[in-house]
Amino acid sequence: MSSQKLREDALHYHAKGRPGKIEVVPTKETLNQRDLSLAYSPGVAEPCLEIASFPEKIYDYTTKGNLVAVITNGTAVLGLGDIGPGASKPVMEGKCLLFKIYADIDAFDIELNTTNIDEFVRTVKILEPTFGGVNLEDIAAPACFEIEERLRKELTIPVMHDDQHGTAITSAAALLNALTISGKEISEIKLAVNGAGAAAIACLDLYVALGVKKENITVFDKDGLLHPARTNLVPNQYKYVRDQLPDGWALADAMRGADVFLGLSIGKVVSQEMVKSMAKDCIVFAMANPTPEISYEEAVEVRPDIIMATGRSDYPNQVNNVLGFPYIFRGALDVRATAINEAMKLAAVRALADLAKKTVPEIVNMTYGQQNLSFGRQYILPKPTDPRLLTTVAPAVAKAAMESGVARKLITDWEEYRSQLSH
Ligand code: NAP
Ligand code: MG
Repeated sequence: MSSQKLREDALHYHAKGRPGKIEVVPTKETLNQRDLSLAYSPGVAEPCLEIASFPEKIYDYTTKGNLVAVITNGTAVLGLGDIGPGASKPVMEGKCLLFKIYADIDAFDIELNTTNIDEFVRTVKILEPTFGGVNLEDIAAPACFEIEERLRKELTIPVMHDDQHGTAITSAAALLNALTISGKEISEIKLAVNGAGAAAIACLDLYVALGVKKENITVFDKDGLLHPARTNLVPNQYKYVRDQLPDGWALADAMRGADVFLGLSIGKVVSQEMVKSMAKDCIVFAMANPTPEISYEEAVEVRPDIIMATGRSDYPNQVNNVLGFPYIFRGALDVRATAINEAMKLAAVRALADLAKKTVPEIVNMTYGQQNLSFGRQYILPKPTDPRLLTTVAPAVAKAAMESGVARKLITDWEEYRSQLSH
């Protein structure tokens, strides 16, 4: 499709009918005066009084338990950058739409007109009564680190910055499966990483939690190696400084002999020579969007043994956050979790990784025009339309929430829960 045609189609899609992509739909009958006197005055006073006496009953009588706020300030929107809160609204409405279609979660987008961290945190904090969860979205680093950390501490509902943790969870599942294929031990692999922003640091934190050794990770940003002599690093980046390497080491040096390249930076910064110099069965996750650090064609051309993933849907192994966030929030909401913690993230990683190893349903093959998708170099992650994502990832997350002590409601009949999810 030409870019002009795409532009016209996209603008028409958003403008046609009622502008935008989401709306509010009543869930109760409103046929007569009686219904209305229950929905609003005088009947509505009864659930209000119940909640006033027993705060947890807000989950029984309101939308709270199925309602997620998608909150941004528009400072790091998709590949578009700092376009501001208003211009980010189509993206946030799109995210709400994905929550709904993949996990039947109702989501509202909230675009905040501030770049002040205190003001942002305070605003989200006072919105807490309305929502069952908060998905932070497209907030620039380093502010996103502090905003998420403070909100996680101060709120009693789950908070997740998807650009950090959704990416980390999905790519970690891809990494585990790529390692299975290459027969390598996670504790032994060497990683060369380009980008030290929101996504890259969260990925590294999760990979380390899965067993990657910090001393085997070498990270670069626009100014080169993350090195102790650097004066422009933020606290989250200090974890990944390498002091035993000579300052001035370049990405090409770190990629020589590396098992994994992780790119969450910008397009076209990795050459064929660099990929050629990597270890056997090299794993290349070139995830800058929309242009990866090295194109799929270029990388595969020099390395037939490669296991490659990108952020794009037109190549194998798309690291797409939609594999994670709908189901992570589904599981968290269904046990009224007070947080999305490390145990829940790791459970999502393992559930995603395991699902990719199972026989792919025919409906998924058909959607992607494939004959036989099966676990291997070209298929290390489930496809976004796989209906089993909901019934495997959400229960895994809910179970981990219960086991790690953050669930306020317990699920006992897992078969019944899975069957509810699939209807
Ligand atoms: P971010 O917070 O702005 O981080 C970008 C990082 O890349 C920064 O550390 C930046 O360094 C570094 N960088 C920029 N140009 C560079 C260069 N020439 N060489 C080395 N490093 C360079 O952005 P983000 O949210 O982490 O996203 C980063 C990229 O990953 C984007 O392209 C985004 O679209 C993509 N992404 C993909 C997925 C996915 O595929 N699922 C998910 C999330 C993000 P400085 O700090 O020095 O500027
Ligand atoms: Mg995003």
